[in-house]
Amino acid sequence: MKPLIYLDNAASTPLREEVLDVMHDCMQHIYGNPSSVHEQGRKAKVVVEQARRSVAGLMGVTPSEIFFTSGGTEAINTLLNRCVADLSRRRFITSRLEHPAVLNCLDQLSAESKIEVHYVENDTKGHINITHLGELLSIHNDAVVALMHANNEIGNLLPVKTVSELCQKHDALFFSDTVQTIGKYQVLLPKLGIDFAVASAHKFHGPKGVGFMYVRSSHPVNSFLRGGGQERNMRAGTENVYGIAGMAKALELSHLQMEADQKHIYGLKQTCISLLREKIQGVQFNGDAEGSSLHTILNVSLPGGLDPEMLLPALDIDGICVSSGSACSSGSIKRSAVLNALNAESGRPSVRVSFSRFNTADEVGYFVDRLRAIYQSS
Ligand code: PLP
Repeated sequence: MKPLIYLDNAASTPLREEVLDVMHDCMQHIYGNPSSVHEQGRKAKVVVEQARRSVAGLMGVTPSEIFFTSGGTEAINTLLNRCVADLSRRRFITSRLEHPAVLNCLDQLSAESKIEVHYVENDTKGHINITHLGELLSIHNDAVVALMHANNEIGNLLPVKTVSELCQKHDALFFSDTVQTIGKYQVLLPKLGIDFAVASAHKFHGPKGVGFMYVRSSHPVNSFLRGGGQERNMRAGTENVYGIAGMAKALELSHLQMEADQKHIYGLKQTCISLLREKIQGVQFNGDAEGSSLHTILNVSLPGGLDPEMLLPALDIDGICVSSGSACSSGSIKRSAVLNALNAESGRPSVRVSFSRFNTADEVGYFVDRLRAIYQSS
């Protein structure tokens, strides 16, 4: 039987059993609408509010600063749009390395002439040029800086504290796409100086279709969706009660075992790097794989000579799930915008390998062996 080696955890992670249990119980017994005043409604409301307290506690914020959404994309769209509508921010500073949810949202606001967007430079390893960011901030005061905490394709980490201090110095607001780091690190938002952050449960072994946004109380914004007054008028629509309960459980578990998981996953990444170097001549890594980089993501740049379009299907036949870019653009043969922004050599196929607590060193070894075999037979 063909094995199943899942190394695409930056796209989505498997649900943890404990999370499934919580959700199952909730689906079966908590069927009321949290807005209803009767007993079943009140029970659902309690589940939602307990989850909010738990999430807020882990992020070091107050429950009133956490709002549940359908995931990262909705949270990003809400925050960027409402910064314009409610906080009258007209200048945005971002990078070419951001997730499409950020870039496309800013593109639309710009096309509607509501904002101007300035792009901070990055180096060929994918790090933001902090000096250039300072220069942009000193020209464009009152800006919103939208920079991600960890890049979903190459794993690079942003020096968040440095960026937040610069933002404070220039009266800028700091929005950080923290989708890839929440659940992987202890992201204490106020300590990091982040004003707006977003999370998505399916990136940390929770369910798909649920996430949250953090809105610092000093910069309140309004709902993006029009409808009922759920989430204290911040997010219209009936709450995904079992999704929210599952997300809170997944986040609690991720924090309980965080250090051990980090160590295990970091070890897998190092093993993968060493084996690839040993077995595939000319292999390189996009981004700063051995520098300031998320332990869960490794972007492998392979020598030319192999049709990039054949690589993923060939690995898939061997039971290996990896990605060639971000999940949202996989399936498309367009070169990754992030790799373009790094000026990565276009003739080299690239593969994003992303690990989780459930992966083993044997799986990593199998992946590298199959990759080598594909190269040898090409
Ligand atoms: N931002 C980053 C960095 C991501 O990796 C993703 C998901 O791939 C998103 C935003 C979008 O999150 P969601 O899938 O919850 O809409």
